Amino acid sequence: MKYRRAEHLRHISYEIRGKIAKRAAQLKFQGIDIIELNIGNPGAFGFRVPDAMNMAMIRNIDKSSAYCDSKGIFSAREAIVIDTQVQGIKGVGIDSVFIGNGVSELIMTSMEALLNPADEVLVPSPDYPLWTAAVTIANGGAKHYRCQSDNLWLPDLTHMESLITPKTRAVCVINPNNPTGSVYPRKLLLEIIALARKHKLIVLADEIYSRVLFDGVEHIPMATLADDVLVATYNGLSKNYRACGYRSGWLYFTGPVDDAQDYLDGLTNILSMRLCPNVLGQHAIQTALGGYQSIIDLCAKGGRLKVQRDYTYERLSKIAGISVAKPQGSMYCFANIDLKRFGFGSDEEFVLEFLEEKHVLLVPGSGFNYNDAPAFRVAFLAFQEILQSAFDRLESFLRRREL
Ligand code: PLP
Repeated sequence: MKYRRAEHLRHISYEIRGKIAKRAAQLKFQGIDIIELNIGNPGAFGFRVPDAMNMAMIRNIDKSSAYCDSKGIFSAREAIVIDTQVQGIKGVGIDSVFIGNGVSELIMTSMEALLNPADEVLVPSPDYPLWTAAVTIANGGAKHYRCQSDNLWLPDLTHMESLITPKTRAVCVINPNNPTGSVYPRKLLLEIIALARKHKLIVLADEIYSRVLFDGVEHIPMATLADDVLVATYNGLSKNYRACGYRSGWLYFTGPVDDAQDYLDGLTNILSMRLCPNVLGQHAIQTALGGYQSIIDLCAKGGRLKVQRDYTYERLSKIAGISVAKPQGSMYCFANIDLKRFGFGSDEEFVLEFLEEKHVLLVPGSGFNYNDAPAFRVAFLAFQEILQSAFDRLESFLRRREL
């Protein structure tokens, strides 16, 4: 007898941990060292969580064994509210703050609570693929708006608007962006808000990299830009605080929240069925948000993340056949590659062959619902000497393949 997966999972993929990553795991079990540039997991590359956050968890461990409120513990939710005030975001009430086991859980549940069959959500291409998957699992349709490789990966608003139908419920904006590293200017964000206003869309603002910024660029929270558009803001400990494994993320709503009460009740209902988010990880939230923001040092001149960003950009931009925009935020470079020049059939084939031959793991652009041109993503979290070895291998691999 065959036990088959549900049909709505048929076309869902998550290539960041997909078949190429599985092949890398097999190679590792054969004793081969793989340079893993596929995943945005800072803790795996020696980035440390601020000690004060760990202390906050240790001090509260005896209070962490019971279930808590399904929306999260009071001190963390209150700290999130206060942080919104510091950022100039108006009107966030504690009742519209939801804590989850990472932003991932909140993306899934917020889509599940929102969508009816055939409802549509505008999602960027390239995207962080969980968004497309979450919409699809919730029986909705993800409509991909183009982000432009020749314009710093900024969204094409004409294309975005052309995708809007009476079924469109929301527009997802990932800023700072994974996978492209783009940070959106105020004017563009205001134009997206205007579209949302005109078509009565919810703005789903995934701002998990909000403090991972380079070269003095400013991150503008979507929720500061309008009080008449419903904005759902997603953020968490995983990236700004390098604490992916603590599985602590949050979601809050701004704008006409009263009009969204039915939706928020539905979301509360689903979240209460999973009882509550991990309690221990939540005890780090208040300390994280109120404390010294050490991510600023990591991204400033001489900071480890900036050094690695600069190095990655410099090496990639020197390789003939690869074109890349300098990332302004997040932890990734997203590069286009001229496959014909090297004789590959697809970006997936390129990434797989590079892995087999040179033992470096990247993610193909197609893994980010991006099929406009062949591409790949590099996470620049490894130390510079490791990045150096990876890019030396890439250069020699491509040189040999050049037709
Ligand atoms: N959103 C984006 C854009 C991400 O890049 C990630 C993780 O890489 C997530 C959400 C999920 O983060 P979390 O660890 O909070 O589940």
